Amino acid sequence: MRKISWQHLNPQVKTLLHGVSRAAEGAGISVYIVGGTVRDILLQKRNVDLDCVVEGNAIELAQRVADLVRGELKIHERFQTATVTSPDRISVDFAMAREEFYPHPGALPVVRPGTLEADLKRRDFTINAMAAVLHGPDAGVLRDLYDGVHDLLRRHLRILHDNSFIDDPTRILRGVRFEQRLNFKFEPRTDRLLKSALRRNVLARIKPARYFTDFRKVLKEEEALGCVRRLRRLGGLDCFFKGRAINDRVLGQIEERRRRLPSFYPAQEADWPMIRFMALLAGLDKVQIEYILKGVPVCRREKESLLGAIQATSQAKLLSVKRMASSDIYAILKPLALENILFIRLRTSVKIVHERVDLFLEKLAHIRLDITGEDVQKALGKRPSRIVGRILAEVMEQKLNGRCPDRARQLEFMRERTCRI
Ligand code: ATP
Repeated sequence: MRKISWQHLNPQVKTLLHGVSRAAEGAGISVYIVGGTVRDILLQKRNVDLDCVVEGNAIELAQRVADLVRGELKIHERFQTATVTSPDRISVDFAMAREEFYPHPGALPVVRPGTLEADLKRRDFTINAMAAVLHGPDAGVLRDLYDGVHDLLRRHLRILHDNSFIDDPTRILRGVRFEQRLNFKFEPRTDRLLKSALRRNVLARIKPARYFTDFRKVLKEEEALGCVRRLRRLGGLDCFFKGRAINDRVLGQIEERRRRLPSFYPAQEADWPMIRFMALLAGLDKVQIEYILKGVPVCRREKESLLGAIQATSQAKLLSVKRMASSDIYAILKPLALENILFIRLRTSVKIVHERVDLFLEKLAHIRLDITGEDVQKALGKRPSRIVGRILAEVMEQKLNGRCPDRARQLEFMRERTCRI
């Protein structure tokens, strides 16, 4: 009987899992950590996403855990799942053990309550189909019905049954993600079945929305470029990109330059999947991009950014002219989303453009006026806000160019300016 070792987990995670064990024992409920959580613990990752499966009422157990650890409880009625967030801000998800079947290939599965075994049977790869007991005297015992540990050791990705990719083609994208992230290989039979599923064009059976939900995760990976290249070679991109040639060359450039960004860059705040998506769409026009985005769940802001990225090359050209005041740089970059600014910076190798984008992100973007609209209103009397806005913009231009650094000088400039209106 193999037991899982918690040693390398961070102490807050251990405390929370201990709380889950105690709550389960108190209620006589069976609970297991499952799937990617077990995989990552066995791979000795320190920070893991915590997923628990409950044989019984998941919401009741989550409530007990929340009480015991004084955590926050969030219930997702629709899915009959719950999340507890500990005071240390570690979250654990609880779901009832389920079995599922596919009414037809590519459809969403129909689910009903089941045992742990049935729950593991519906999973994608053997390395993701393990569980570890959290309750009672068996706590820590690994349930490995499909030899996941063996595959982990051999660095193999193996599906649980021959129809797996047909039932759920998104597993192809998941598989490529794990292959690239973990540096694993599809074992020969899985590899054959994956390629055969792709030859049968299974990815065309799922809606763009479903494809994109998994493709966004691909773009989130540190190894996104490797994943995209692999998917392209496999023919796993064609149906989503509707036959258009995607630009993994631009993606390669961006990944390469990204490593060399100055440290003051707000890179963590940026939506990298979106920037990578912009790179893949580089070279396509508005009509082509809109065609690809049909039925794809991107919000309005994301869509605007993706379409806005068409201008990146011309914006970079504008930013490379010989003489430019700080206010000119500001006027070009200020209206753009951070993702579009980063895309311009990463898309070009022109040094002056780098310097100007850097100046904007490090300094200009943080400059604030020391006067307000009210100050202008007072000087002007009642005037349309359009005029107030225009005057403020002019004062800002002065400040950006170093001419009105403080409130006194800004007021002076503003008064002079309002006299002329
Ligand atoms: P990641 O580290 O990227 O979050 P994960 O394996 O934890 O990967 P999740 O999407 O969080 O992935 O899913 C959790 C678990 O649910 C997986 O480990 C797997 O057991 C199961 N799972 C998720 N998606 C599928 C799928 N499409 N088919 C079968 N099982 C799945």
